[in-house]
Amino acid sequence: MSDKINMYGLSLEELEEQMEKLGQKKFRAKQLYSWLYRFNVDSFDDMTDISKSFREVLKERYTLTLPKIYTKQMSDDGTIKLLLELEDGHKVETVLMHYFYGDSVCVSSEVGCNMGCKFCASGLLKKVRGLDASEMMGQVLIINQLLRPLKRKVTHVVVMGTGEPFDNYDNVMSFIKAVNSQFGLDIGARHITVSTAGVVPGILKYGKEGLQINLAISLHAPLDEVRNKLMPINQAYPLDQVMAAVDQYFADSNRQVTFEYIMIKDLNDTDECLKALIDLIKPRHGFVNLIPYNEVMENDFRRSSNNRVHKFHDALLKAGIKSTIRKEFGSDIDAACGQLRARYEHK
Ligand code: SF4
Repeated sequence: MSDKINMYGLSLEELEEQMEKLGQKKFRAKQLYSWLYRFNVDSFDDMTDISKSFREVLKERYTLTLPKIYTKQMSDDGTIKLLLELEDGHKVETVLMHYFYGDSVCVSSEVGCNMGCKFCASGLLKKVRGLDASEMMGQVLIINQLLRPLKRKVTHVVVMGTGEPFDNYDNVMSFIKAVNSQFGLDIGARHITVSTAGVVPGILKYGKEGLQINLAISLHAPLDEVRNKLMPINQAYPLDQVMAAVDQYFADSNRQVTFEYIMIKDLNDTDECLKALIDLIKPRHGFVNLIPYNEVMENDFRRSSNNRVHKFHDALLKAGIKSTIRKEFGSDIDAACGQLRARYEHK
């Protein structure tokens, strides 16, 4: 791997600092950002309003490296799932989901994941390392390249793929700032979501960033005894601590939180869980995203029946809690998070 800096990993502020160190004016950073994200060039030689001599300086210090597409799966419903190869050979998954309102990319933040959620194929493969910001940005830019001939581009980014984003906090922040910057990808803060399994210090820090970017909590159970069976992180940060952090986040940011709830038959879809879920969310004005479980062969969990999913949905709405049932994507491909990489690694 080269020891040059991959420019795709720098937030605008970081690039401004770098330019100042090179004796340049701050505006140079905006000019570079514009070439990278507005004009989508991937070579310094194409930056025609920058002098040839300064382009040589840039080439000596920086690269513009994107991951390579290792495997591509396309679903009939427009979902595209990529296994991308990073510069050091590690592979990560990226998924594009096409909604009526735009194109949403689910970005991975780590190679593997140490959270060990029992329902998750990604958690089967332990964390090797966190991704740097350029490797996360690379996932979005590769999807944009695929969408360009269709005259579409990424409109929403969710950091919800493999990895725990708050386990790789600084890189994730640089990445989302570049995505959000009006000189970068210019994707509105409300179209960006970071999802955590419940890392309390990360939630508290994130709330103080002063960003309008969404926060999602992978809740998946409203009772400690059930959540302990699904998510080992609940031993470190039990529900009362996670909810106290959510309340503090709301006080600091005034932003509502989305709670993700994968529905698993006879485990977290009982009447007792439904009542506890309502009691937990109602005072917090949260939003609940119900997700019918995507079965994988690596475990015995089964998906809740449609009746149960709708029963939860109706009861939440009746209690005055906003809720949706997540649309299913890519059921004809390796749709579950981490499944594609898990299959590759097992091979
Ligand atoms: S669900 Fe997310 S946090 Fe949990 S193991 Fe999978 S990738 Fe990690």
